[in-house]
Amino acid sequence: MFDLRHFMFSVIFMFIMTCWYLVRGCSIPDILCFLLCVGIESGDVRSRTILGFICTLLNVYEFFFINVVMDRSWITTSRISDEYENSVEEFIQFAKRNGVRVNNKYYCPCVNCVNVIRQDIELIREHILCDGFLKSYTIWTWHGEVLE
Ligand SMILES: [Zn+2]
Repeated sequence: MFDLRHFMFSVIFMFIMTCWYLVRGCSIPDILCFLLCVGIESGDVRSRTILGFICTLLNVYEFFFINVVMDRSWITTSRISDEYENSVEEFIQFAKRNGVRVNNKYYCPCVNCVNVIRQDIELIREHILCDGFLKSYTIWTWHGEVLE
């Protein structure tokens, strides 16, 4: 019943995707959630349960971490709130001050561009307001924020 080829493929696939997510500035909980999805698809009940448990714990931890330490909680608030709008403006200013500009464009941290596609600053504002800010992107390493 054990299919070695399928197993190896899954492991390699997970490894590549994890590296990719890390490179794009995603947080560990999001990567675990992705691995959980793969686990569900492969139908392995044990790995699904373990990953699900770790995922939940880390999400709870991250929730408090973001709120207490970094105050980037606005990322998860409603997009029609004043707080969100003001914070988007703060992000735009931060990106202008610290971000690396190429052809007058910065990486767009919206849910669709996920820091892979560069956009005009005006378009970035529009994307974040209309589509939403990448929820896992709480340390703005793609816009010049330096990790301690
Ligand atoms: Zn975008």
